Amino acid sequence: MQFKDVIGQQSVKERLIRSVKSERISHAQLFFGPPGTGKLAMAIAYAQYICCKSRSDTDSCGTCPSCLKMNKLAHPDLHFVFPVVTSGQSGGKSVSDNYISFWREAVKGNPYLSENQWYEIIGAENKQGFISRNESSEVLRKLSLKSYESEYKVLIMWLAEKMNASAANTLLKLIEEPPDKTLFLIVSENTELILPTILSRTQMVRMGPPDPDSMRMGLLEQYPEQEEMVYDVLRRSNGNYGLAIKIMESDDIENQYFEEFVLFMRKCYARDIVHLRRWAETIAPWGREKIKDFLTYSLRLIRENFMLNLQQHDLSFLSEKEADFSQKFSDYIHEGNVFELVGEFEKAISHIEANGAAKLVLFDLAVKNILLLKRTVPQQ
Ligand SMILES: [Zn+2]
Repeated sequence: MQFKDVIGQQSVKERLIRSVKSERISHAQLFFGPPGTGKLAMAIAYAQYICCKSRSDTDSCGTCPSCLKMNKLAHPDLHFVFPVVTSGQSGGKSVSDNYISFWREAVKGNPYLSENQWYEIIGAENKQGFISRNESSEVLRKLSLKSYESEYKVLIMWLAEKMNASAANTLLKLIEEPPDKTLFLIVSENTELILPTILSRTQMVRMGPPDPDSMRMGLLEQYPEQEEMVYDVLRRSNGNYGLAIKIMESDDIENQYFEEFVLFMRKCYARDIVHLRRWAETIAPWGREKIKDFLTYSLRLIRENFMLNLQQHDLSFLSEKEADFSQKFSDYIHEGNVFELVGEFEKAISHIEANGAAKLVLFDLAVKNILLLKRTVPQQ
């Protein structure tokens, strides 16, 4: 992966390149920011640039022996750590290396992949991934070796917030007393869950959403035949390039979520308890990640409809179908119910996350929703 493959983020690229040119590469750096900004892609491009045998002022060459291995994410001095689950492919011992071939394929295919997409790939839809103590002993072992081909050994850790306490303590020790010529490129979407002592010892690299122009050009390059859809998706993805790719790739899923959302709201409005019970039964087998995804999608539509109700917003953040539906539906989402509605959906997400019985959680949500939809706008 080269810098040119990372969407936008020009100032971050320049800063990283400067650190290499001036030979002031900080040994522990933390790439943080919201999902879909390209933190992982940037960390890989940076590692490739550092190891490249004939880099230019702006990028790695892409063709030297080091770059060829980096392109395959199979350079012997590049190590990855990412959240995994027990069982399945891991044979009980859950470390990243057991999943490395899945990882290489997934990241080469989409360096903007989300945590949920990763869990789907490794068949962990109903489990939460984590970075374990086993992983930290693997890391210790790898980093104690001398580098094979490059000046540096590079460890890229994706979603460091998934470390358990003992893995975090090992990492902290490693960062405090790093093995010679070792770089830690840590990626996080939630720095609040990382030990403050780790944060204070890393150089922070903040990444915000890529600029819209770069996103547009990136999408058009990837989907040259779908110009119209690109414009629609740009509006809907709100600076999350990973989400933009996901919508481009899976418009079917979004359609399904939309249909289910409309059905759910109609049945709630009609107080059709029998149908709602059946509805919960059909959604429950989707599995945890997909249900969470659907509820998150629903939250977005509820928020957009409230903005429409307040007339603070045009329809531009919605797809055509969503906009059609929302013309009327937005009348029902107002100050009198929106906060509680959002709260109930968020609660449902956290119950699903905690492995609550999906059928019950969804039915309970339906009952709350019935009451909240019937509320009227409060009189001023
Ligand atoms: Zn190169």
